[in-house]
Amino acid sequence: MTLTSTAASPDMLADVVVIGGGLVGSAVAYGLAREGARVTVLDEDDGGFRASRGNFGLVWIQGKGYGLSPYARWSRSSATRWPQLALALRDESGIDVALKQPGGFHFCFNDEELAERDKRLSTLQAELGDYPYQMLDAAEVRARIPQVGPAVIGASYTPMDGHVNPLKLLRALHTAMQARGVRLVSSERAQRIEPQAHGFVVHGKRGTYRAAKVVLAAGLGNRALAPFVGLDAPVAPNRGQVLVSERVAPFLHYPTLNVRQTDEGSLQFGDSMEEVGFDDFTTTHVLADIARRGVRAFPMLQHVRLVRMWAALRVYSPDGFPIYDQSQAHPGAFVVTCHSGVTLAAAHALRVAPWIMGAPMPGELPTFSARRFEHARELIPAH
Ligand SMILES: Cc1cc2nc3c(=O)[nH]c(=O)nc-3n(C[C@H](O)[C@H](O)[C@H](O)COP(=O)(O)OP(=O)(O)OC[C@H]3O[C@@H](n4cnc5c(N)ncnc54)[C@H](O)[C@@H]3O)c2cc1C
Repeated sequence: MTLTSTAASPDMLADVVVIGGGLVGSAVAYGLAREGARVTVLDEDDGGFRASRGNFGLVWIQGKGYGLSPYARWSRSSATRWPQLALALRDESGIDVALKQPGGFHFCFNDEELAERDKRLSTLQAELGDYPYQMLDAAEVRARIPQVGPAVIGASYTPMDGHVNPLKLLRALHTAMQARGVRLVSSERAQRIEPQAHGFVVHGKRGTYRAAKVVLAAGLGNRALAPFVGLDAPVAPNRGQVLVSERVAPFLHYPTLNVRQTDEGSLQFGDSMEEVGFDDFTTTHVLADIARRGVRAFPMLQHVRLVRMWAALRVYSPDGFPIYDQSQAHPGAFVVTCHSGVTLAAAHALRVAPWIMGAPMPGELPTFSARRFEHARELIPAH
């Protein structure tokens, strides 16, 4: 499908300009290209905040959507499409993103945690029907993961969870979308968007980009861009810190919420949730807590060497759920933003992109309009 572009100069002709080249923008751009659109992606330079380069790599379902079951449905619809995405990326980019979906464990260290977990998952199961999960006692956990330490008194397990290599995912999306003709303009910060009669002009630091549609997928940058096109994206940063060990022989064949073994053999320990504004520095006490929790779960790891650590900023809406909207004032302008861009990559490529190109909005999405925040406007902190 090709839309009429209002481009004044041919090199800036596109059906859609996507602002942001992280996991969200790249998944959407890749999906748009699959739909046949001519796409330009603008991505700020390395000085920008990039959750996509600092995350934990889980394709995680269990527990999500407690209090808002459409989110559970939406996340699951992405997880079930993930094998299709991984296969397509491997074929089109030559990159295996190391998707594994063996199910995931959430370890509990006391009875209260175990009871809370059961309550959460049984509520979701009652609401959703098809929502497989098991509560396991210590012996049952150890039967599946013998290396678990005595501090773990039980766990929840669902077969719905998995993980990928998130850096390979970003590279695969960039490679595959460009192979399909997407133009990626790096080191280009969109500063202003001008709605016009038949499209949009995006004014960047280095150039001007015209298209019939514009998608705001700039993570934390969406907040400033949204008002130009009558949208609202009240997102704020939430810091997460992560530790990575040297490579060890494979022993952990399931992802868990706080420890996973990557396809390359290293262990990743995560991840904190901190409201500290636009500060993406690491702190020793938080990293020490993360390491302690990891060793409590797996005492055998106490002597493993840690080789890397980092912090990155999540893109958080006031209630933590995603925002998907098309502007009522300026149809053709969309915002797509969430805090689980790895998990939702398949939904963004395979369900959100067709909607942007004119297919009906996926049934789960009306719940995620930013209009839900209107009544609480005064409670949202400004950053
Ligand atoms: C510690 C941590 C652990 C996480 N773990 C998981 C996990 O296990 N599973 C999961 O699903 N998710 C996880 N996430 C969340 C996931 O990483 C994010 O949801 C995802 O990366 C968001 O992608 P994004 O493209 O919206 O944002 P970003 O990665 O922040 O990308 C936004 C891009 O837009 C660019 N940009 C900003 N403003 C402009 C502008 N004006 N013009 C042009 N470009 C602009 C930026 O430079 C950046 O490249 C985690 C996040 C963190 C921080």
